Amino acid sequence: MRRRQLIDATIESLAEIGFNASTLAQIARRAGVSPGLVAHYFGDKDGLLEATLRFLSLRLYRATALRLREARGPRARVQALIDANLAPEEFDQRTSSVWLAFWGQVLHSERLRRVQRVYQARMLANLRHDLRGIVAPGEVARLAITIAAVIDGLWLRSSLSAAGETDSVSARQIAALFVDAQIAAAWSGGERPAASLNGHLVMTPRPPLLANHIGGRYHATGGATFETRNPATGDVLAEIEIAGEAEVEAAIAAARTGQKRWAAMTGAERGRILKRAADLLRARNDELARLETLDTGKPIQETLVVDVASGADCIEYYAGLAAGLSGEHVDLGPSAFGYTRREPLGIVAGIGAWNYPLQIACWKSAPALACGNAMLFKPAELTPLTALKLAEIYAEAGVLEGVFNVVQGFAETGRLLTRHPAIAKVSLTGEVGTGRKVMADAAGALKYVTLELGGKSPLIVFDDADIDDAVSGALLANFYSAGEVCSNGTRVFVHESVRPAFIEKLVARVEKMVVGDPLDPATQVGALISPDHMEKVLGYIAKGRAEGAKLLAGGARVTANGLSMGAFIAPTVFDGCTDGMSIVREEIFGPVMAVLSFTDEDEVIARANDTEFGLAAGVFTRDLARGHRVIAQLHAGTCWINHYNITPIELPFGGVKQSGLGRENGKAAIEHYTQLKSVYVNLGHVEAPY
Ligand code: NDP
Repeated sequence: MRRRQLIDATIESLAEIGFNASTLAQIARRAGVSPGLVAHYFGDKDGLLEATLRFLSLRLYRATALRLREARGPRARVQALIDANLAPEEFDQRTSSVWLAFWGQVLHSERLRRVQRVYQARMLANLRHDLRGIVAPGEVARLAITIAAVIDGLWLRSSLSAAGETDSVSARQIAALFVDAQIAAAWSGGERPAASLNGHLVMTPRPPLLANHIGGRYHATGGATFETRNPATGDVLAEIEIAGEAEVEAAIAAARTGQKRWAAMTGAERGRILKRAADLLRARNDELARLETLDTGKPIQETLVVDVASGADCIEYYAGLAAGLSGEHVDLGPSAFGYTRREPLGIVAGIGAWNYPLQIACWKSAPALACGNAMLFKPAELTPLTALKLAEIYAEAGVLEGVFNVVQGFAETGRLLTRHPAIAKVSLTGEVGTGRKVMADAAGALKYVTLELGGKSPLIVFDDADIDDAVSGALLANFYSAGEVCSNGTRVFVHESVRPAFIEKLVARVEKMVVGDPLDPATQVGALISPDHMEKVLGYIAKGRAEGAKLLAGGARVTANGLSMGAFIAPTVFDGCTDGMSIVREEIFGPVMAVLSFTDEDEVIARANDTEFGLAAGVFTRDLARGHRVIAQLHAGTCWINHYNITPIELPFGGVKQSGLGRENGKAAIEHYTQLKSVYVNLGHVEAPY
């Protein structure tokens, strides 16, 4: 309620006095609360503005979804989009001035730009989807952009003209006439493409349309969609239906029924089914690896040996543990005893990041299911494909209907999960900022949370280290998956006395790394996840240079040899870095290594710990006593001595400080997906003082 009240006050303030004059203190006054309370809910003004823009976008999205649901046929759906975007309430002076205030700021704020991009992407994806049923395939993209531009243009002209050049009714008429004329001109005859939808992969020349996976099957509704692209080529791989409230409720209903039956099975029975799922994953390794490579841009030489295998290992590990789950017996003397029951939490949610989509889905679902829970899983919207394959595999293996559901979409879909009262726990892999929001939302219903968040981990190379091994470790710690690994050791501290030798060997090996088509088995560095993310990483490289770091390798986008349509960056090494530089302090999540030098053990430990993050750390030394001594003092949840980025399922994985809460993998995860019930059993009479 308070959040909503503050968002309403922000809207009023933006409408009345504009962007610059709307300060946090002024908005707090308007809402009749203290500035501290606003800061408590939203952090700062940027946080409040982002939440307000999300609120406005969500309101428009919901209004659009309602109209789309009622529309029959592709032309009617295009009209529904026009009608929603040009509805009378969008022309209202107060609403117009708030939208205008935001659009003016989008260029200057990455946070606002992100919200706006999602909104634009959704509108275009919907238009493209419906236009495929109306015009020739070659015309779809152009026409979608043109219609979006006409909608924006009509609204903008009206909002900016003092006399109200057009009202909602005439704007919609103009847009409708325009669309009909364009369709007539664009359609050059021949057979029209089918606009059918069945929820499964539709193997037509157009990208497949994929529904949410609910209750053990695809659950197509014909609602709003988004598209997922191959970041190496820009090609659309598939369109995905967005899960709104109705789909999330359907998944909850299915999970409720499924979970009761699933939890009533013995652990051994659940384990047997999960083991079958692990076998199916392994049998389909190559097909799944290829799909993961297409969706993420990661080299096939990685996905063939890591992504699917790690998921299968995890499911197999928890399949094995399932039969052994138990409570304990507690002796309370001759006339009583106690026992504990280890019970599932009920319905849990998993929300994934885009860097290891299948692995993350497996790491979250395997312990959850082994312990008798049901899960609603939301993949990142950039990588929605392999979680659906996992859902198919679970169903085929015999996991009961409703026990594993995949709901697709953006942060709004994630929020439907984190705020849902029927969900007992949320496990998120994502950025620190997202972790804070998820935890705040989960607090509303006192849900358990596991947060696997970002990092800026140190890798320390002592003077007695095997230099070739240390260089191998640094390469694994920075360039695997094009550097898009949360645990990466991007701050490489090298002892001053071995730095020249280390640098020489490092640069020689980096220069030989093969950047290329992710599907080519020779490629070692594939594409980054998206053009936007590539720009962010290039921005950090520019900052590194500007702040005085010395570029030793890479440092630029790669477009040669057919890579110009993709998001490729050469593996980049900066030397001469200092602790205060942006590339040393902030998570880049790309192929950018910062080398720093040190001379003293205590000094390097203090510098390694001087960060808000605490996900991982690595030490290279031949002195094992030093290895253990240093690791014991590093503030990190996951550490390696003489290796880096190896994550066997048997070892718990997770971070400290801002890098997260809770652990995945190992026996530790069982604690995070079960709760204990204590039972006291009296064997004698009941003595009462009354
Ligand atoms: P994000 O935090 O942007 O997104 C993570 C997931 O949360 C996505 O599915 C996203 O949806 C969803 N989401 C976003 N906002 C909300 C919200 N308010 N409520 C509920 N769900 C929400 O992370 P990225 O996908 O960009 O992943 C990169 C980050 O993940 C890096 O910081 C990396 O370090 C971290 N990471 C951590 C790992 C670990 O184990 N510690 C492992 C791998 C990555 P959508 O994408 O659709 O917006």
